Amino acid sequence: MKESNLVELNSEIISMPETVSVEELVVEEGLSPCPSCEKLVPAKTVVRDGYTYIVKHCVFERKFFNVFLGKGWYDKSYKDISLPNSWPRCEVHIGQKEMSEKNVLNIGEVSFVLLTITKKCNIHCKICYDKLLADRIDMSLSHIEDKLRFFKNRTVILFGGEPTVREDLPEIIKLVKLSNNYPVLFTNGIKLTSRDYLNCLIKNGLWGVCLSFDGFDAHIYAELRGLDEKVYQQKLEALENLKKTNIPVVIHSTIVKEVNEHEVAKILDYAAQNDFVSAVWFRTLYLSGEEKLSNFDKTNLISEKEMVNMICSHLDIDKEYFYLWDEVKRGLVKWITKRFPKFKISVFRLGRIYLIRKKGKFHPVLTIRQLKDIKVALETNRYFILLSPCLLKWFVRLAVNGFSIARIERTFYKEAMVFKICLEQLGPYPNIMFSNQHPITLVEYNRGRFFAAQSYID
Ligand code: SF4
Ligand SMILES: [Zn+2]
Repeated sequence: MKESNLVELNSEIISMPETVSVEELVVEEGLSPCPSCEKLVPAKTVVRDGYTYIVKHCVFERKFFNVFLGKGWYDKSYKDISLPNSWPRCEVHIGQKEMSEKNVLNIGEVSFVLLTITKKCNIHCKICYDKLLADRIDMSLSHIEDKLRFFKNRTVILFGGEPTVREDLPEIIKLVKLSNNYPVLFTNGIKLTSRDYLNCLIKNGLWGVCLSFDGFDAHIYAELRGLDEKVYQQKLEALENLKKTNIPVVIHSTIVKEVNEHEVAKILDYAAQNDFVSAVWFRTLYLSGEEKLSNFDKTNLISEKEMVNMICSHLDIDKEYFYLWDEVKRGLVKWITKRFPKFKISVFRLGRIYLIRKKGKFHPVLTIRQLKDIKVALETNRYFILLSPCLLKWFVRLAVNGFSIARIERTFYKEAMVFKICLEQLGPYPNIMFSNQHPITLVEYNRGRFFAAQSYID
């Protein structure tokens, strides 16, 4: 699809059949990638019965898709959660397709880059939404090298499918390192059962690992992903090997109702006792409607509220702590963009809290009182409120790091002091962004990622 076709496609939006009933609330309209052919198609984000989903109409395949985004996202007032127009782009997803330098720059400041280097995998999870794309040709080394020149000092996530199925992964890691970026591997961990393999990746410049890990029970992997129970043993081995290195490790857990909710507490306890774990990401299912083998449905989804309750009651932290971090980040972005409209800041991602690990226990980095003080100071311009030594330290850190949370987090990761809990695909994020005037800068925020439209144009 060339740019001119995109304009043709725009006219399809106008004629998109009305697929939602009066009980449904349409919160956004725009373009979004088709879950089957990945071309940009007309889409609407709607709320019905307490669930939020995107209705996509693939005009190429003449199919409709109801993609569940989550439980209860927009049961809050949509207006309350809207972000300033200048909300910085979070990350760029580079797919197979070409992206010109101009387009990349138009997307704005990014804090990290997702490189989908393959769609192939060495296991077959029944909840996987990538299966349809497994026969895709892998991204070539020259393509990767070419794209990396647009970025510097960024976390580059090597993503799949399963990136370790590529024999040339060490070379790819080296390319990322040589481009002055930070290579992070997003993996199911099967290949990391080999210590030699892991060491080879690290020798080539691997900076961090994000390991998908759903709990400490072999049954979970069978029930949730339809995998042989030995996969659990392999993941434990991978964790043990990672523990012996000094690279930051993020545990990425898919939590599903009636399968592994009780694992949230166990994973947090493990992270509290193991310094090598820098963060935990909790996410719920992604239901695109294309997981033919999965027997899960929307009743298995977990809402943001439910997840926050689980985490906070286990850690004995006030629930407000979660929401205050988001409010402070929004306030900070509004404050900066209002005063310095030309100033580029990297994104503050929402739905995450920061904790300090001391003697196997987590403690909030800032107290609720301090977070409230920051919020009030930003809203009322009464900055003297911030003159406490602890807050000043944080603001100096922000300023020194150019308001780049990504850079600050990287420093903290290395210090292994600040631990982060992130909620993915659970928070109230905009899912479709659309500009008629500038279709080339179209991005989509979905499943915690910004997708650049250019990725889908060939
Ligand atoms: S490990 Fe990831 S990419 Fe591989 S099948 Fe499972 S969900 Fe899909
Ligand atoms: Zn399609």
